[in-house]
Amino acid sequence: SAKQHGRNQFAFFQPQMTEEIRERLEIQQGIREAIKHDYLFLDYQPIYCMRSGRILGAEALLRWRHPQHGLLSPARFIPIIEESDLIEEVTRWVAQRAVTDLQSLLELNPAFSLSINISGAALHQSSICDFICDLKQQQNLPDDSLCIEITETSMITHLESSENALRRWKSAGIEIWIDDFGTGYSSLAYLNSLSIDGLKIDRSFVHNLIDGHSRPLIDAMVALAESLSIHTVAEGIETEQQLALLRKMGVHLAQGFGLARPMPLLDLQQKIRLEIEETA
Ligand code: C2E
Ligand code: MG
Ligand code: MG
Ligand code: MG
Repeated sequence: SAKQHGRNQFAFFQPQMTEEIRERLEIQQGIREAIKHDYLFLDYQPIYCMRSGRILGAEALLRWRHPQHGLLSPARFIPIIEESDLIEEVTRWVAQRAVTDLQSLLELNPAFSLSINISGAALHQSSICDFICDLKQQQNLPDDSLCIEITETSMITHLESSENALRRWKSAGIEIWIDDFGTGYSSLAYLNSLSIDGLKIDRSFVHNLIDGHSRPLIDAMVALAESLSIHTVAEGIETEQQLALLRKMGVHLAQGFGLARPMPLLDLQQKIRLEIEETA
């Protein structure tokens, strides 16, 4: 608050702005330390097959255990890091860690697929694209075991560089998913021209499915995906009712707190092992 920083006279006049600038600086300076000292880590949220109810894959979600501020959410620090070159370093860190962890998950399930989030700002840098393609090759990852999630908005904002990156990932055997689908104001033309593998229906639609008005919208997204022969994931499933209805509506994959929260690698491995034992 402004009071806490009251020593600074400027803060008295523009507390909001000063607080924002201070936070931005702290995050941009802190992230280097975080990478160096291993304050960053990934949680994994399982993604389930609607039909079989089994885990098909997971999404890697970045966390920052800050020595002073505790656990920081990516929703808070990623947008700030995106404003600087640091996003490149962070994206490399995420990709490296995720690919290492993916190796162990593939040992449990050779068809496992792992998604990483790539921010629009990172799409600009062709070196990021190369880095991830190289990782996939060096590690001998099977095709389609690694997926990239990109939001509609960032793809449109960085259309030219995203087209190039997507094409190269595609030919390297890396899947491309559209994240938070339905929330960007974009034309649908890009779905056809870029080779997209699937749509992640944003959790706001899932949230408004039962009591709100989003059912016809989800129906339209499922129909669109079907006509393009691509897959759909529903994000943010919290209740049995949502799960049952989305399955009935033809959504292929399911993700949400109601099924499983993001968890450490060890817990995910354990979950997969239990599944294998149960069906053995
Ligand atoms: P996202 O890619 O759409 O990830 C899904 C977010 O929804 C995650 O939040 C997840 O914890 C949350 N979620 C999953 N199921 C439920 C549910 O049932 N209910 C609710 N209310 N939320 C649910 P998280 O981990 O806080 O991540 C927020 C965003 O930060 C992500 O949204 C993604 O855009 C970004 N992000 C996370 N990790 C990375 C990363 O490694 N790189 C980049 N560039 N962005 C990342
Ligand atoms: Mg995502
Ligand atoms: Mg999403
Ligand atoms: Mg989202």
